[in-house]
Amino acid sequence: MQATGTKRSRQREKIYQVLRRTTSHPTAEWVYERVREQLPRISLGTVYRNLHVLKEQGKVRELDFGEGIRRYDATVDQHYHFICERCGTVQDLAIPPQDDLHERVRQRVPGTIRTHRLDFYGICIDCLEKG
Ligand SMILES: [Zn+2]
Ligand SMILES: [Zn+2]
Repeated sequence: MQATGTKRSRQREKIYQVLRRTTSHPTAEWVYERVREQLPRISLGTVYRNLHVLKEQGKVRELDFGEGIRRYDATVDQHYHFICERCGTVQDLAIPPQDDLHERVRQRVPGTIRTHRLDFYGICIDCLEKG
């Protein structure tokens, strides 16, 4: 029992490390390929399950930018994203949380607001330079 628990937490730790070392907002498949280099016997299903647990623990965010795929982010503090519509790259934006906007919306919405997301779409510099 204890061995199983240790193995599980070791797998989860590796998955978390892989996510923390990237800012690319990868998919579960991408994480799986990286983790497999260190834990060759891990399955994609296990990676999915652990990502879900990490999300429940508040250690990772699950994001969907309307592409029909889920991406994962180990940066859980409030931040915004810029998504390239050509190559699909997702970048973190270095702008502070928009508390004013949050407050303005909060005052107008009947109900409670927990959080908000802001996604910016366009063409990244790399794609622009490629023409
Ligand atoms: Zn691009
Ligand atoms: Zn992010």
